[in-house]
Amino acid sequence: MTKAISILGSTGSIGVQTLDVARMHHIKVIALTANKRIDVLEQQAREFQPLMVAVLDQAAALQLKAALADTDIAVYAGEEGILAAAQHPQADTVVNAIVGAAGLLPTMTAIHAGKNIALANKETLVAGGAIVKAAVRQQGVSLYPVDSEHSAIFQCLQGCPAGALKKVILTASGGSFYGKTKQELRSVTVEQALKHPNWNMGAKITIDSATLMNKGLEVIEASWLFEVPDEKIDVLIHRESIIHSMIQLQDNSVIAQLGVADMRIPIQYALTYPQRMPSPVKELDLSAIATLTFAKPDTDTFECLAICREALRRGGLWPTVANAANEAAVQLFLEGKITFLQIPELVGQAVGHWSDTDNTVTLENILAADRDTRQRILRP
Ligand code: NDP
Repeated sequence: MTKAISILGSTGSIGVQTLDVARMHHIKVIALTANKRIDVLEQQAREFQPLMVAVLDQAAALQLKAALADTDIAVYAGEEGILAAAQHPQADTVVNAIVGAAGLLPTMTAIHAGKNIALANKETLVAGGAIVKAAVRQQGVSLYPVDSEHSAIFQCLQGCPAGALKKVILTASGGSFYGKTKQELRSVTVEQALKHPNWNMGAKITIDSATLMNKGLEVIEASWLFEVPDEKIDVLIHRESIIHSMIQLQDNSVIAQLGVADMRIPIQYALTYPQRMPSPVKELDLSAIATLTFAKPDTDTFECLAICREALRRGGLWPTVANAANEAAVQLFLEGKITFLQIPELVGQAVGHWSDTDNTVTLENILAADRDTRQRILRP
């Protein structure tokens, strides 16, 4: 392939799988970035020979610079380094696989530099959907979803005429604690929450799946990507994670996208669109699976989904606040400082207390709301 990509967050779960796809299809890798895991980044740099790498952590960047001294690979540090990777002139597409709202500025920078975006970083759209969509339109670039549900909807929509879409149906595995009561959730541990039934993902999104916050973030993401309001986005628990999502059309015909649970399919489609190419992912054997099940989500027990829907309906900076509160709460939970049920509690309080005095959606206001919300939770 003639594609040239930069991968932001290449050392994470999505980043590593993107490099698998790049390896298979000989996609040129221009830049790679990480937060601080330089052992993995060094290995990746030696194999893929990008023009540059960037590490957010300054000290780790210095170490990597020394380690790569025998190569021609430029090593950048800090946020400027990540942004340099996002706008590298030799890349045509930026895969954003950073976790959290830290991905927003790199996404905006890449769009303004005229890059097409393959977006795994859903927090980009949750925190800043309005400005991201406006920038995409203004720059005339393409934004391809990598999130499996949104890729599924994007795939289902191929060939659908404008106006044909009636609603989208996001499927949800239900996460580690599906079927549990609030009483049972009181004593669950970090280790239990990190055991996802179907997907092997980064820690933050695995916790988000367990609280159903992930599905709430995805409702907001879907609303921006496919321009549908909250009431036209259904969520359906589907424990097997075989149907990755569906669309319902005006005539009530439903189209679904199916496949084994492997992110390399949506990653590859975002990079090869509209082409379909061979994939390392194994074939789906429906006769071996035999049964697919569906249920309504329990939003009384898993409140984050309802909180996100409320934030989406209110609009403005509410989704930014919900996302920031969740990121801070998940961090505290992973550090063992709060219980599992305090995550929805903190997110609900942040959304409930947010006032709309200055709710204009500008990059500056988004970053300020994000920072203030985090600080209130991390340093009360
Ligand atoms: P991981 O935690 O596995 O990886 C995150 C990557 O981002 C790592 O390379 C990490 O570097 C880097 N990083 C972390 N913090 C920062 C920061 N502040 N600035 C710059 N880089 C940073 O996450 P995942 O791969 O699981 O998820 C990435 C995104 O994709 C998330 O938004 C997630 O919701 C979304 N997604 C993930 C799926 C999955 O299957 N994993 C499925 C669908 C969506 P380092 O390694 O040095 O810490």
